[in-house]
Amino acid sequence: MTDYDVVIIGGGAAGLTLSHRMGGVNERRGRPLRTALLEPPAGAHTPPPRTWCFWEPDAGPWDGLLTARWRDLSVVGHGGTEYRSPADPYVYKMLRSTDMAAHVRDHADEHLRSRESYVTGLVDGPEHATVHAIEPDGTEVSLTARWVFDSRPPPPPPGGRTRLLQHFLGWFVRLPQDTFDPGAAILMDLRPAQPRTGVAFGYVLPLSTREALVEYTEFGRTALTTPEYEKALTAYCAQAGLGEVEVTATEQGIIPMTDAPFPTRTGRRLFRIGTAGGATRPSTGYTFSGVARQTAAVADALAADRTPVPPVPHRSRHLVMDAIMLAALDRGRVEGADFFERLFAGNRLGDVLAFLDGASRLPKELRMGLTTPVAAMSRSALDHLWHALRTREGTARPDRGPTE
Ligand SMILES: Cc1cc2nc3c(=O)[nH]c(=O)nc-3n(C[C@H](O)[C@H](O)[C@H](O)COP(=O)(O)OP(=O)(O)OC[C@H]3O[C@@H](n4cnc5c(N)ncnc54)[C@H](O)[C@@H]3O)c2cc1C
Repeated sequence: MTDYDVVIIGGGAAGLTLSHRMGGVNERRGRPLRTALLEPPAGAHTPPPRTWCFWEPDAGPWDGLLTARWRDLSVVGHGGTEYRSPADPYVYKMLRSTDMAAHVRDHADEHLRSRESYVTGLVDGPEHATVHAIEPDGTEVSLTARWVFDSRPPPPPPGGRTRLLQHFLGWFVRLPQDTFDPGAAILMDLRPAQPRTGVAFGYVLPLSTREALVEYTEFGRTALTTPEYEKALTAYCAQAGLGEVEVTATEQGIIPMTDAPFPTRTGRRLFRIGTAGGATRPSTGYTFSGVARQTAAVADALAADRTPVPPVPHRSRHLVMDAIMLAALDRGRVEGADFFERLFAGNRLGDVLAFLDGASRLPKELRMGLTTPVAAMSRSALDHLWHALRTREGTARPDRGPTE
């Protein structure tokens, strides 16, 4: 008998979402699965609180917890042209990690145990896996489980041709007078000075008429220093017409944007989920909705007593398209600001969001491709094909792994 049926390592977006699904899994099974969620106490090993934005058609499972939602979105071109439209059929939503964590813990059934454990090692085995961890009082513990889902940030995966970073600094700002329309957000503002390769943009997500999250983001090979971000974000606030702002909180981060494959099965009983399990969409850095799809598949497998190998939650053709786009950006074949402005100017916003979330169909994707710099993207596609043929490696495919 193992200590647990399921151990989930990490209480971030993926660990929390999977933990939240376990109640439903237990209802469907009749025989509950004893689950532990391991997350160290807040400190040096844990990321600071963050906000997760995502879009979905209207109602969704986290609606009661949202900090904000927007139906109207705009993209601003490098020269200042604004492309504003409803996000229809989608609503763009913001959820705070702290609100999600509290909700998951408050609504867990009695079969989920949250433990403040820092994981130090994993050992796979034919019958069970063993998780080595340290408790807050320094005690070393070993926990056995039938299945282990690990969402700790992994070292960069090997392989892949392009390794960009989406790196950013955001300020939660307060202004002395009404400035924002709380129903409308700027998704991408391409007015900031552009780097030689990659792209730089700002965005503004209003939380009330006087408060907003304002961010400066780059897609590029190397992150900036904090003073460099602050300079860029100050300049962007001025460009966005915000003037003097009071900064009430900050959000800073780096999200990998790579075509390297992320294996989701690392042992007979060991799996990876979340960013560690390829849930991040390479071309956008958005992860939250990929996590939802990935953990839904894991929950279905657990409910049906199948081996719960997490799928990479992106279609193979989208991963190929992303690899082509990332390579074109990284090698300077396309100018990032021009690429994104053409994409948003030439297509309905809802269609672009559907594509970026993997919900589009091929004919529309091909038409969308024609609105981007076709010659440069074709060269990047041929280059990708040539490389794939030479290495016979291709790009990441959903890792189905062997079943038992
Ligand atoms: C600041 C920021 C903002 C983002 N905003 C968005 C967004 O708006 N929309 C979107 O789709 N994506 C966003 N992303 C990308 C992505 O959604 C997030 O990184 C998301 O948190 C990834 O979820 P995850 O569960 O894979 O990893 P994380 O949320 O990072 O969770 C990993 C967990 O593992 C825990 N951990 C680490 N080491 C150990 C250990 N040794 N033992 C036990 N636990 C451990 C950590 O404490 C952490 O809680 C953002 C990323 C950042 C950095």
